[in-house]
Amino acid sequence: MNIILLGPPGAGKGTQAARLVDHYKMRQLSTGDMLRAAVKAGTPVGLQAKAVMERGELVSDEIVSALIDAELEAMPPEQGAIFDGYPRTKPQAASLEQILARHGRKLDHVIELEVNEDALVDRITGRYTCANCGTGYHDRYHQPKVAGVCDKCGSTEFKRRPDDNEETVRMRMQEYRAKTAPILPVYEERGIVSRVDGMASIGDVADALDAILK
Ligand code: ADP
Ligand code: ADP
Ligand code: ZN
Repeated sequence: MNIILLGPPGAGKGTQAARLVDHYKMRQLSTGDMLRAAVKAGTPVGLQAKAVMERGELVSDEIVSALIDAELEAMPPEQGAIFDGYPRTKPQAASLEQILARHGRKLDHVIELEVNEDALVDRITGRYTCANCGTGYHDRYHQPKVAGVCDKCGSTEFKRRPDDNEETVRMRMQEYRAKTAPILPVYEERGIVSRVDGMASIGDVADALDAILK
């Protein structure tokens, strides 16, 4: 199974992808995570992407499609893929078609998490992750069971993203509306789009995804 999770920044893509990975042994392919790893490692891609990401603009289509292609290349063909934060533009959507065909895969579902934009700034500015294993949390909506200790790995170190501030979030939402939302009609014509209420609780969104994937 190959699925795209679509939605503006803070919609809950990463949170739901992590659960699908645990539940269905699928693999999460997050171009945001790949780019942050490249920035941290100081690779040529990272050096090119850093300032763009800090402004909340989009990194070039060629760079992100190459990252996705390389990840799929390394995956067992029978393992399902969750595309999280990719494709984000029409050219990326076209590249994905070619990449999937090359790897003998087909797209099963495009799932759009529908959210109220006013809630997103609040979600994003409260977001943090475990510095060790990357598990995502929120200051108010998803706290570790034991305060200050990661549920998954026990680490007590957490971090916040430099682009998770109000100004950058507004730019990222604008990019989503202008460049990402327009990729939906093509998938719509193919009858593979499902919509989920992303304002529901994390557990209810997970149940809605299970109902689509079953
Ligand atoms: P995305 O990957 O789409 O940018 P995340 O999954 O990182 O979004 O979620 C953004 C923030 O909102 C995180 O701090 C997460 O814990 C929180 N969050 C995710 N889903 C929900 C939800 N359904 N209700 C409330 N908070 C949520
Ligand atoms: P969010 O979880 O908030 O939706 P991501 O982690 O997916 O954000 O992306 C963070 C930043 O990385 C984006 O603002 C953009 O600069 C860059 N980025 C990630 N994925 C892509 C992509 N598919 N195309 C272009 N830029 C991307
Ligand atoms: Zn952890």
